[in-house]
Amino acid sequence: MIIRGKILTAIFCFICFNAVSQTNRKIYFPLSFYKDSADFEKNIPVLLEQVKPLVDTANPWMYTPFQMANGFIKGDYQTTIQALNIYRKAVPPYYEILFKAYNIQLEAYAKTKLLHAPVETFDVSYTKMLKKIYEDLPEQAQMAVRVIRQITSPKMPVENSDSLTVDGALKLLLYYINEKTGKATNALTEPVISVYESRHHILPGLTSGGKLNPLQEKMDIRHYTLSLDVDIPGKRIAGNAIVKINFLENADTVMLDLVRLMKVSKVTLNNKPVAFEQKDDKIFIAGKAIKGMYEVKIEYSGHPPVAALPPWIGGFSWYKGGKWDNWAIINCQEEGGKIYFPCKDHPSDEADEGVDMFITIPDSLSVAGPGLLQQVKKHNNGKATWHWKTNYTISNYCIVFNVGKYTVVRDEYITVNGNKAPIEFYVSPYDSMYADRVIKTRKFQTRVLEKYFGEYPWIKEKIGIAQTPATGMEHQTMITHGEPLEEMTPLQDVYHNQVFLHEYIHEWWANKISNKDWAHVWIQEGIATYGEALFFREVEGEKGYDSIIQYIRESITDHVPVVQGEGLTMRQAFNDFDNNVYFKGAFFMHTLRYTLGDTVFFPALKKFISDVKHPYSRFFTTEDIERFFSKESGRDLKPLFHFYLYTTNKLDFKINKTSEDSYTVYLSNNPFGLPVDIQTDAGITRMLTTDIEKPFKITSKTIPVIDPGNNLYKTVSFKEQ
Ligand SMILES: [Zn+2]
Repeated sequence: MIIRGKILTAIFCFICFNAVSQTNRKIYFPLSFYKDSADFEKNIPVLLEQVKPLVDTANPWMYTPFQMANGFIKGDYQTTIQALNIYRKAVPPYYEILFKAYNIQLEAYAKTKLLHAPVETFDVSYTKMLKKIYEDLPEQAQMAVRVIRQITSPKMPVENSDSLTVDGALKLLLYYINEKTGKATNALTEPVISVYESRHHILPGLTSGGKLNPLQEKMDIRHYTLSLDVDIPGKRIAGNAIVKINFLENADTVMLDLVRLMKVSKVTLNNKPVAFEQKDDKIFIAGKAIKGMYEVKIEYSGHPPVAALPPWIGGFSWYKGGKWDNWAIINCQEEGGKIYFPCKDHPSDEADEGVDMFITIPDSLSVAGPGLLQQVKKHNNGKATWHWKTNYTISNYCIVFNVGKYTVVRDEYITVNGNKAPIEFYVSPYDSMYADRVIKTRKFQTRVLEKYFGEYPWIKEKIGIAQTPATGMEHQTMITHGEPLEEMTPLQDVYHNQVFLHEYIHEWWANKISNKDWAHVWIQEGIATYGEALFFREVEGEKGYDSIIQYIRESITDHVPVVQGEGLTMRQAFNDFDNNVYFKGAFFMHTLRYTLGDTVFFPALKKFISDVKHPYSRFFTTEDIERFFSKESGRDLKPLFHFYLYTTNKLDFKINKTSEDSYTVYLSNNPFGLPVDIQTDAGITRMLTTDIEKPFKITSKTIPVIDPGNNLYKTVSFKEQ
């Protein structure tokens, strides 16, 4: 999954863009009409009716900052400025905020796209700006924002980079502007719908993993068969799941995870009906001394949870009208497969023998799924059943499908070992003219990634891409991709294709090498993020690699350690999406490379992922990675792993000026013999951190610079005596 903060600017742009294009429409929605938040909520259905004609079904997630900024540069910017000038006359303070936002946006575009500079500065000013917007809202509008926030993200302060809060705040702001100027927009449409839907189909706080339930410790999931009828207008699914389980010890209860929105009507155990109970998003199925291989069949139906912010806050996303008419997509990395099928929702157990999916939809649409398409069976009621099958081990959050009006573009890739892997790209017919370019990019990425991580892992099935209205996710052998395809060029532009690349690296680091517990998710996200730097190393050399590492280093938050314990849920491990597992994890890999040197590091990295002792059905912890690299390097790396991944400590360097041209350097908390460069007037000298555990005397006409290449996670303090 890609980091979440990136979407912020997208939301802002979409709103403003919409406000501009919709000014000729009329709707009046005076917030001051409502007494309090309860009154506001009570009237939501009425409001919904009012705003319905204004709902723009275009999908906001399509508009990334780059694409939108690009749009402004190409010409839309003039229109935007014109509209802003109208606002300026009416409401000067708000104009300033909006205008600044656009400038910041363009600045960020220039920085990231053209100069490869860190976007940190941009993020900080953006967050500040959002806070200001909220504070400047009239009290009634602030109240409405808080109501929305209660449902979407109760723990987050409003100024935090939480997209839904921001979404609500900005839309209310635009509403307010338009009320003042006498012009109306659909500013409140989306937050109102979001509140409305959350009352029905959103299950806040769903997460996967955690401490494994003792009932599930005995169960080894072998295979899932899902047979589901998907009712897109009704936003409903119905059918059954057959779960093949090997019971390792005697069990009297089978426990599977399934959200309460799915109503189970019948359960059989090896074809015999059995008693069951649904409680707390789980099904408890009665049995007696169950041991060995069993098939559990569960018949069920219901409205699956609606995704509040796909792909981050997942569920089903249903689309209506426009380019995505009748599309339905699923994202559930955070929530787990239990949002729509009964499963053992824990990263430590994947379906070893794979999955069969029989998805029934209107016969004018297609299903994109994992593995290989076996058959499309047309029925005489206007429906068709798509059978997808994967024989590979697959994690439960990758057991998903996308329904849409797809065109399939095929090609073939010859792997580094000379094997043929089919390429299948499920693309919207509106974008099929860009398919060749996208496939060409994918082939190039595969070639580079195979160099570092070995052969593409799923050669017996396919290299799959499914275009969706939401942004990308690492769905095994059918990676989703949501950026507008016309923007995807040229091949070398890692920034532009960053999501497309990042999700694909997960085929190696996440889908092949999977974490055993979400506590160790940095193995998936941190190494995938590091992989982006390796890709750029290939394209632009060490300079390109360094520019990505600089961005990674400056994005570290470190509010909590990368590994916070064991038995963590996805939500806990991601620490409410503060992105540290991505950046600190990636920066750790950089320090590891710097410490071990390329001749040890690169072969070891590749060996880990291609080692026959690491089959697809194995799961990994931080300790596994540490032991492997320790063995390959012949050094005990445990203290280094511990320092970087289990603490938030920084190497604490101190420089003391003792007299003219004379200094001591000293490291107060050295965990490990790391190489450290020290720059003096004589040039750069490489030492070991163990050499400076006691004050080390240096003579130099210039103040010594410790680690000028920024290869270490550190602080440096300077004192004159
Ligand atoms: Zn990711």
